[in-house]
Amino acid sequence: MFDLIIRNANLPDGQDAVDICIRNGKIAETGSRIEASAAAEIDATGRLVTPPFVDPHFHMDATLSLGMPRLNHSGTLLEGIALWGELRPALTKDALLERALRYCDLAVSQGLLAIRSHVDTSDPKLVTVEALLEVRDKVAPYIDLQLVAFPQDGYYRSTGAVDALNRALDMGVDVVGGIPHFERTMDEGTASVQALCRIAAERGLPIDMHCDETDDPMSRHIETLAAQTVRFGLKGRVAGSHLTSMHSMNNYYASKLIPLIAEAEINVIPNPLINIMLQGRHDTYPKRRGMTRVRELMAAGINVAFGHDCVMDPWYSMGSADMLEVGHMAIHVAQMAGVDDIRKIFDAITVNSAKAMGLEGYGLAKGCNADLVILQARDTLEALRLKAHRLAVIRRGKVIARSTPRITDLMLDGRPAKVDGAEYAPLQR
Ligand SMILES: [Zn+2]
Repeated sequence: MFDLIIRNANLPDGQDAVDICIRNGKIAETGSRIEASAAAEIDATGRLVTPPFVDPHFHMDATLSLGMPRLNHSGTLLEGIALWGELRPALTKDALLERALRYCDLAVSQGLLAIRSHVDTSDPKLVTVEALLEVRDKVAPYIDLQLVAFPQDGYYRSTGAVDALNRALDMGVDVVGGIPHFERTMDEGTASVQALCRIAAERGLPIDMHCDETDDPMSRHIETLAAQTVRFGLKGRVAGSHLTSMHSMNNYYASKLIPLIAEAEINVIPNPLINIMLQGRHDTYPKRRGMTRVRELMAAGINVAFGHDCVMDPWYSMGSADMLEVGHMAIHVAQMAGVDDIRKIFDAITVNSAKAMGLEGYGLAKGCNADLVILQARDTLEALRLKAHRLAVIRRGKVIARSTPRITDLMLDGRPAKVDGAEYAPLQR
């Protein structure tokens, strides 16, 4: 006897007609036509059932603040940072809590059940940290929220940042952040990477740095991050977010760098929506795309995970907590549209992101947490193409979000009465 059985599921790896049996919040058994009963059953009717979406790079202290105190007129990264600097002194814990919790509601509706959020530690009052720690506790029953101490204004560039970052970690923030390309000089950037790796080693914490988020091909802090990761014995615990300068590096240097990243087992976290929006701004034509070398990094065996980064904040007026939209953009920017590419992109917003965050019990194997999303799509290609509607979101075996299929009534003589966008793909199987 199980608590819940989801029948007739298609899985991301291509298996179809699979039954998933759940007991005590865990996946107890999977297989075809399992003869068992349960307190509840859901017929997935051949639709895709996936572990939840995971966003390994986000800014929950800034989300849903669009227009506060004004809109970003140039739409650039630097005006966004300036705007955030204007808003920051006016931030209150209550307002931060309310926006973050509202974003988490949206995330759940999109099947996004794990998020790593950078938290700006530049204001020594650390009201952002206080608020987000409370959010982490409040949402724990439905979202795994990890927090990164992020010295947005620079670790050495901003007075008091060293002390504030340490205090944020003392307060219980999970991950050490950094922003070496924003320090005053290359040397100070290098020194910040070194210092932050030392802190992570001493405290036994992971690292996730905004690293080389620039079009400057000489911004090579990822090289230092790889070297220091090895030096401090941090292999597998370090993430390099963005790495956009790699887009502009010469191919010879990239061919030396990629094996160093692989050796250090660094998780690479591009943010396709934000990278294509904010990079290449000093170019006329041709304009660079700015996203890091996803295909080449994946081919080298490096764990590549995509982040959403921003939703309706000083840097980005768009976004809807939809990791399929992130993957959709990645397919285009990385030009990864081959049959195998599509599944790799889907992995980058699910299993790879879970690995980058070090999540335990993630996946569809027996014994994993019964955290699942049923999509109005048959397979990963269709899910990404349609940014498919989420029909049900399940956390630890309980349905926590549900919606009716998106179907349109059509009033055309001699044509079908209803259109379900997910039934239009010519079936190859
Ligand atoms: Zn970011």
